[in-house]
Amino acid sequence: MKIIKDILLCDLDAFFASVEQRDRPELQGKPVIVGGSPDGRGVVSTCSYEARKFGVHSAMPMKKALSLCPGAVIIRGRMSRYKEVAGQVRHIFSQYTPDIEIVSIDEAYLAFPAGKGLKAGLMIHDHIKEELKLSISVGVSTNKLLAKIACELAKPDRVKALWAENVDSELWPLSIRVLPGIGPVTGEKLNRLGIRTVKDLAAYPLESLNRTLGSNANLIHGYAHGIDDRNIEPEHVVKSISEETTFSDDLYDQDTIHAILLELSAGVGYRLRSANLTGRTITLKLRFSDFSTITRGKTLTNPADSDSDIYKTAQELFSRHKGKPPWRLIGIQVSGLEQGGQLSLLSPTESEEKEKKLTEIRDRLHQKYGNEVIFQARRLKKED
Ligand SMILES: [Mg+2]
Repeated sequence: MKIIKDILLCDLDAFFASVEQRDRPELQGKPVIVGGSPDGRGVVSTCSYEARKFGVHSAMPMKKALSLCPGAVIIRGRMSRYKEVAGQVRHIFSQYTPDIEIVSIDEAYLAFPAGKGLKAGLMIHDHIKEELKLSISVGVSTNKLLAKIACELAKPDRVKALWAENVDSELWPLSIRVLPGIGPVTGEKLNRLGIRTVKDLAAYPLESLNRTLGSNANLIHGYAHGIDDRNIEPEHVVKSISEETTFSDDLYDQDTIHAILLELSAGVGYRLRSANLTGRTITLKLRFSDFSTITRGKTLTNPADSDSDIYKTAQELFSRHKGKPPWRLIGIQVSGLEQGGQLSLLSPTESEEKEKKLTEIRDRLHQKYGNEVIFQARRLKKED
């Protein structure tokens, strides 16, 4: 028997453009288009709601977008920043449920016990608004199809439920194009059969649909009735977390290597703690100027999740295996992952307590401002 769950589709509104408007307040209220160059064959990746009023939409050639909205601010986009913010959003999701299927950088399905979904959706919406100052739309139902359609109806910045008992009043009046599997070509074919709304499709005899929809007929006819058996597919279990840096030039300076190791440890440590994981094995990856690459690991007695434990081990591995300079690449991997924070039988010493506080502060900064501010803080500290 299938366990009934509530399913949420959470979709950030105009994600890339919203991140730009949030990071640069002078862009707020202005039409912002993130995308390729208007000189070449660039297309619109995302545009703010202010730009949408002019008819601009995703995948439109940049040239056309600019002719519709000449006053738009064009931004080439900062993928690493968007990825970082998406990670912060996922971290918030993971505080509500472990059942998460990532659809794309700005979209994810979340599952909850039956009856809990709507409340969770409202809490997640407000949490993301308050902590990240981003707007998100949330669709709530008991399957993926209805959650997705509820989310479309919720856009922008709202939470909406669409339950099976309201399929006839809310889903049926919509165009068949809202259903997955019906693109422009199939849509056109169905239109020629007089099928325009979801209600038309639901009422159409299934046997007669086979010619147009082929082997999908059964599935799509089910969609028209609000039926969808697709399960949430949670992300693959993470086996290891790693970060590495390739140098633009051969590097001879060991102090710089130590600074980079510290930076990499902080990155890996942050990701471990965000996922509430600890790791038992620390592995150092090192590439020399002749491109030969070695990996050397050490397994700890107590699983680690602190920057300093990771850094200490990585540094030790480096001193032991550094070989002859120059180096071309250095990386740190943490594996042997376990769920749950560090449990120590010893009472925390003062210095451990201090580091814990420092780490908490750093994580909060990281979540709020991203990597840059911490790097700057460290650089400043080095300079004084
Ligand atoms: Mg979106």
